[in-house]
Amino acid sequence: MNAPLAPAFVNGDVSFWYRSIGVPVPTEPLAGDVQADVAIVGAGYTGLWTAYYLKKLDPALRVVVLEKEFAGFGASGRNGGWLAGLLPGSAARYAKHHGRDTALRFQREMFAAVDEVIRVAHTEGIDADLVKGGLFNVARTPAQAARLRAEVVAQRSWGWTPEDVDLLSTREMTARINVEGALAASWSPHCARIQPALLARGLARAVRVLGVELHERTPVTEIARGRAVTPGGTVSADLVLRCTEGFTAAVPGHHRDWLPMNSSMIVTEPLDSWDEIGWSGSELLGDMAHYYMYAQRTADDRIAFGGRGRPYLYGSRLDDRGHTHDWTVDALWRLLTSFFPAVKGARVEHAWSGVLGVPRDWCATVGLDRSTGLGWAGGYTGHGVTATNLAGRTLADLALGRDTDLTTLPWVGRRVRRWEPEPLRWLGVHAMYRLYRLADAREATGTPRTSVLARIADMITGH
Ligand SMILES: Cc1cc2nc3c(=O)[nH]c(=O)nc-3n(C[C@H](O)[C@H](O)[C@H](O)COP(=O)(O)OP(=O)(O)OC[C@H]3O[C@@H](n4cnc5c(N)ncnc54)[C@H](O)[C@@H]3O)c2cc1C
Repeated sequence: MNAPLAPAFVNGDVSFWYRSIGVPVPTEPLAGDVQADVAIVGAGYTGLWTAYYLKKLDPALRVVVLEKEFAGFGASGRNGGWLAGLLPGSAARYAKHHGRDTALRFQREMFAAVDEVIRVAHTEGIDADLVKGGLFNVARTPAQAARLRAEVVAQRSWGWTPEDVDLLSTREMTARINVEGALAASWSPHCARIQPALLARGLARAVRVLGVELHERTPVTEIARGRAVTPGGTVSADLVLRCTEGFTAAVPGHHRDWLPMNSSMIVTEPLDSWDEIGWSGSELLGDMAHYYMYAQRTADDRIAFGGRGRPYLYGSRLDDRGHTHDWTVDALWRLLTSFFPAVKGARVEHAWSGVLGVPRDWCATVGLDRSTGLGWAGGYTGHGVTATNLAGRTLADLALGRDTDLTTLPWVGRRVRRWEPEPLRWLGVHAMYRLYRLADAREATGTPRTSVLARIADMITGH
């Protein structure tokens, strides 16, 4: 089934979120050499949160942020708008090297970070369509239902209480959101709906007010001890912090650090079928498929619906301003209408994609090498909307030499092995996604167990 496209359909042009507020006109690029205390490369949420907390902690610091396009151009202006308290990686892996207690503490910090983002948004007057409506995860096959129950058991073993996550009956779930074929669901209050670009642009405004110098249209071509080099000039600084996430593969010296993984979204026209769908509480919605989906009901009554799309381009090539393959648009539409048959009468108004950073062990990291003054944060594997806030606060503490509860969290200072060279990298990732699709198809036949194909896929890529 081909997706029906609205006459005003747009493919790419960064994202629908910018279509509704206007794609920003970038500010002046850096012109000339400057001296700073801290240079930050990349003005997504990570770079902006880091700049924000640095200036809050020490207003006298000279902080310069360098952004190759405009603030919020990357995943921060394109995501699904789940401000969720989920860990950016596996609790067990974090605990393996740093102990169970720090992993438990990390989880509580992630829950608290949801509220911290909401607090700052209120304090700084950032209206990002924020509603803390919680998160539903739905299962639509017996195998997904078994995984969902196992996930809740695992979450409980990592400190989630019944107030943090609970199982719902099908009736309870469909009374809130009427997902076709729902067999089971879980519910967590630790999630808020946001309009991602409004948060990014609001943060960019807030840091400027605090005195941060933000230069857009300023690509950094070299990051080295004490300097960030751009075509218009060099920023000399004691500390240079790399906050380039999915774009990191293009930064010299970091080609195989984090795999740039694509994620794609479509958005419908405003819908008039809400009586059939329900979904009146701005909850976020995800599922338990291997080829998973994520969705929100937007503030203007559309469904924004995302999934994996074409996951990875050979040689870690990066995105083309969000342009999305027709195959992906059609696949997302088919999935969306299988969740909500009532949407069939509507059309798709916008499709876009973005890149996120995936480390080899699928766990995020924050760090600062004191001997070189070089720092970094990222590799959130698609769970960065909240984690970037915690990363920004942590990087600010590290930069200022503060020993805090955050600087001992288990993602601090982790060194992860690099991805394999091509063609192994491409083959591995594509095999993983092919196997996930096959596994979902097998599980759709009603088998109660997770397909062995999915386990093989996880083994191949270390997921
Ligand atoms: C389609 C999609 C949906 C997602 N949905 C969710 C979700 O619902 N919830 C969730 O938690 N996470 C989600 N994510 C992930 C989340 O958006 C990211 O983890 C988060 O935004 C990362 O922020 P960042 O600042 O680290 O990276 P980015 O926002 O990508 O920012 C990096 C910035 O660095 C700039 N840059 C790169 N290289 C250079 C250079 N050489 N010089 C100067 N500037 C440079 C880029 O232009 C970019 O602006 C999604 C991601 C995508 C793509």
